[in-house]
Amino acid sequence: MDEKTVMLIVDDVEINRAVLTQFFQDEYTIVEAVNGQEALKVIENQHVGIVLADLVMPVMDGYELLGIMKRKDQYAGIPVIVMTARSDADSEARAMEMGAADFITKPYNPTIVRCRVKNVMARLENEWRKVEQLAKDRQLVEMHRYIEKDPLTNIYTRETFYRKSAELMQLNADTAYDIVYLDISCFKAINDLFRIEMGNLILKTAAYYFKVIMGEKGLCARIEADHFALCLPASQLNIDKLLAGLDNTVQSLGISHNILFYAGIYPVDNAFLPVDQMCDRAHMALNRVKGNYMTRYAYYDKSMRDQMLEEQMIVRDMEFALQEGQFCIYMQPVYNLRTNRIVSAEALVRWNHPTNGTISPGKFIPVFERNGFIVRLDRFVWEEACRFLRAQKDRGDKVIPVSVNVSRLNFYNLDLIEYLMQLVKKYELETWMLKLEVTESAYTDNPHQLMMVVRELRLHGFPVLMDDFGSGYSSLNMLKDLPVDVLKIDMGFVREIERSGRASAIIRSIVSMAQNLDMGIVVEGVETKPQVDFLGSIGCEKIQGYYFSRPLPEKEFDGLLVRDQQRTKSEE
Ligand code: C2E
Ligand code: CA
Ligand code: CA
Repeated sequence: MDEKTVMLIVDDVEINRAVLTQFFQDEYTIVEAVNGQEALKVIENQHVGIVLADLVMPVMDGYELLGIMKRKDQYAGIPVIVMTARSDADSEARAMEMGAADFITKPYNPTIVRCRVKNVMARLENEWRKVEQLAKDRQLVEMHRYIEKDPLTNIYTRETFYRKSAELMQLNADTAYDIVYLDISCFKAINDLFRIEMGNLILKTAAYYFKVIMGEKGLCARIEADHFALCLPASQLNIDKLLAGLDNTVQSLGISHNILFYAGIYPVDNAFLPVDQMCDRAHMALNRVKGNYMTRYAYYDKSMRDQMLEEQMIVRDMEFALQEGQFCIYMQPVYNLRTNRIVSAEALVRWNHPTNGTISPGKFIPVFERNGFIVRLDRFVWEEACRFLRAQKDRGDKVIPVSVNVSRLNFYNLDLIEYLMQLVKKYELETWMLKLEVTESAYTDNPHQLMMVVRELRLHGFPVLMDDFGSGYSSLNMLKDLPVDVLKIDMGFVREIERSGRASAIIRSIVSMAQNLDMGIVVEGVETKPQVDFLGSIGCEKIQGYYFSRPLPEKEFDGLLVRDQQRTKSEE
């Protein structure tokens, strides 16, 4: 029989321990401790799989326990879920920053508590799987660990930098330190334009400069590729001078290409935060200015911290949200200008978060695209759309097709077509009813794969729409290779209609091109009467936008649709 995972429950209040033990004793072997110190003893003596720790306890509280665990390599991997009093956002944020896997609020709700623990364990398992997959790479990384200096530049490697900086800052706990993260703009272009030796020469020169500048003051390292990091006392950092000196040094190589360094600075406020996270923060600041000609550096600030916390919240809650039905779809109609009737609708996802209210897709979709969750969310939305179509069909009305967004990650799944076919079959629909919106970025990623899949989807009868057409740089190029049924013209153009003759001219030619190529057109983001009039005058009939309707909750949209169809019938 499989041995159960050990769960350590740390709380000074007996009744709390008893409640949690009740929840978990079937699945886990429970061990209890009354404070952080006792908990550490347990962890030292047996293999613990997960820890639930109260934040407020005598002798050693939850923060201290968390801090100690995350600093020790052998315990850092054990997930710790912290328990806080209701609506104590500050302590939650602090604990999450210190590496807590999640939090639970008191009084305990059994379903939520179970779900949170399950999520954390599932995430862990997922990470393990990744780690196993990367076993080979890891061996390489392990080897790297023992190499102190980067062979190319002869300054510290990432691992050495992390370790030595942590030691340095903790040893001088009363000195304020800065972590500086540096990156060269368009380094790839330099490698492409010149020989690889030229790229290497730039890296070596920059490293040499950092080494000279830092001297005894602090540490410098090459983190990866063209990324460098410095750790030095804040009082010693003059970032303008540092960047100017760096420019001069690199320019002295006489390369006929503008090489610009960008920097992000994290003023260390907690010397016990893992240095890789400090570097992430400095990197985050850097990303705010990268590519900007006027400003070449930025400091990490609270807004970035908030953004990071928000992202953490999103990642933490997503699984639970999907299970608990917090996601739903809104429908936005597409109207035919000439008949004034609804001709289709787009299903757009919404997240009703129990404590944060409605979260806009603009916030969570990019996060899900990065961590892969978008594939599951998209499938949920498709299913909701099919359910909606089924209900229409059951009413016996003429079915108005619904379009759904297909995020680019879906095109890496070999079973995409199979999945969609099954879905249509399950709800006894026809493929023309489910339209698929694909964005240009999918094409830029992997043109060949996308072309093949789109071709096959169309062969199966799914209409394919090119979403946000004109927003990327490969639009026209793409059309040549990728026949789609409909172009959805990006809102950017529509906004410009009243202001710029050029935007109108562009729309006009896109429309005539689409007509020549036998493709349909939908214009989205239409808000005003003049826009509608202009679009009508150039033969764009299908319009989606606030002018007609915002995206509506399913029920409201349903009402709108029924009224629309009754009007149609009465006119027939
Ligand atoms: P999108 O696919 O281009 O969707 C159109 C967006 O424009 C929607 O924003 C819609 O509410 C908004 N919109 C429509 N008419 C107007 C208008 O007249 N004026 C203005 N200012 N905006 C208008 P929403 O719902 O916030 O979605 C934003 C984006 O999030 C979507 O852009 C899409 O890229 C993504 N998204 C939404 N739902 C899903 C989904 O289920 N799956 C995936 N992969 N992405 C989704
Ligand atoms: Ca769309
Ligand atoms: Ca769009």
